[in-house]
Amino acid sequence: MNEKIRIGIIGVGHLGQHHVKHFNSLSSARLIGIHDTNQGRAQEIGQRFSVDSFPGLGDLLDVVDAVSIVTPTVSHAKLATRCMEEGKHVFIEKPITKTVAEADGLIKLSGEKNVLLQVGHIERLNPALLPLKDFNLQPKYIEVQRLAPYTVRGTDVPVVLDLMIHDIDIILSLVDSPVKNIRASGVSIMTKSVDIANARIRFKNGTVASITASRIAKDRVRKIKVFQQDMYATIDLSLGLTEVYRILDSQKKDPVAIFTAPLEQGELQRQIVYAKPVVKKIDALNMELGNFIGSIQGREKPIVDGAAGREALAVATKIHQMIIEDLL
Ligand code: NAD
Repeated sequence: MNEKIRIGIIGVGHLGQHHVKHFNSLSSARLIGIHDTNQGRAQEIGQRFSVDSFPGLGDLLDVVDAVSIVTPTVSHAKLATRCMEEGKHVFIEKPITKTVAEADGLIKLSGEKNVLLQVGHIERLNPALLPLKDFNLQPKYIEVQRLAPYTVRGTDVPVVLDLMIHDIDIILSLVDSPVKNIRASGVSIMTKSVDIANARIRFKNGTVASITASRIAKDRVRKIKVFQQDMYATIDLSLGLTEVYRILDSQKKDPVAIFTAPLEQGELQRQIVYAKPVVKKIDALNMELGNFIGSIQGREKPIVDGAAGREALAVATKIHQMIIEDLL
C-alpha cells in the first residue's frame, strides 16, 4: 500500500501539537484533521498549522484511515476502542492505557478488526540509546535514574506510569528474559499519588535492573548505566551522550576506540578501550510517527506494538501496586 495514509489526531494539548507538526511534514501521510474536547484549543492549533478542526469525533473518523491518540491516559481505552471499532489504525501515546485489562481489550480488538495498534514509547528512539545496537548487549546489571521537575501534566497517573514506564519499556527491550521478581518502594510528596519510586527487577536469566523515577527534582536527569561481562556503557538520554568502556585482549585493535589503557589481570594482558559512539541528530517523534505510517503501509514493523506497550504497563502496574502495599 503506497497511497498516503489519512490521519486524524485526537487531543492537541502539550504533546498533541507536536504530532500535528510532524504528521503535517510526513510525505507518506496526509493530516486530515484534529479533534479535542477543548474546542478553543483545537481551533488555536488548527489555525496555527492550517489544519481542519472537527468538533465531533465521529465526523473525523468518517474521513481518516488512522488516528493518533494524544489525550490523558484515563481516556485512552475508550477512545481507542471507538476508533478501532470503526476500523481505524491506532497510535496511542504512552502508557497504552490505565489498566492492563484495558490494554488486553485493545490488543484483542486490534486483532479482531485487523488494525494496527502502536504505542508511543518514544525513548526507544532516543538518539543516545540507538548506538548500543552496535555492541553485543547482554546486560547483567542496569541502573536507571529519571528525575523531572514537578509539572501538573502527567499527574493524572502515578510517577511509575508517567515517567518510570519509559525506562521499564527500555529495559524490557534490552533484556531477553522474562521477569522473575520485583521489589519496589516509593513515597508521595506533592500529589495524592506516588511521586518518587524505586524498583528492582530481577529477570530469570539473572539480570538485575534498578530504576529510580521522581517528579520532584530541581533538574532533569535521564541516565542509564549498563554493566555486563567486560563492558560498561553509560547513556545520558538528556544530554545525548553515550560512552562505552570495554575490556579486550591487548592485541585486539578496536576501530571505534578513542583511547586505550593497558590492564594487567594476573597472567592476562588486556586493555581498557573507551568509545564514544556518534549520537546522530534524529527527531525521535518524527521517526516514531513515520514508523507508524510505514507499519500501516506494510513497509516497516512497529517499534512498540500493543503487546510491548502492554508488557511495560503490566510491569509498571505491579511496581505501583507493590509501592502502595508497602506504604500501608
Ligand atoms: P495535555 O493535557 O497537555 O493534552 C491533552 C489534550 O487532550 C487536551 O487538549 C485535552 O483537552 C484533550 N482531551 C482530553 N480528553 C479528551 C477526549 N476524550 N477527547 C479529545 N480530546 C481530549 O496532555 P499531554 O501532556 O499532551 O499528554 C497526552 C498524552 O501523551 C498522555 O497519555 C501522556 O502520558 C502522553 N505523553 C507522552 C510523552 C512521551 O514522552 N511519549 C510525553 C508527554 C505526554
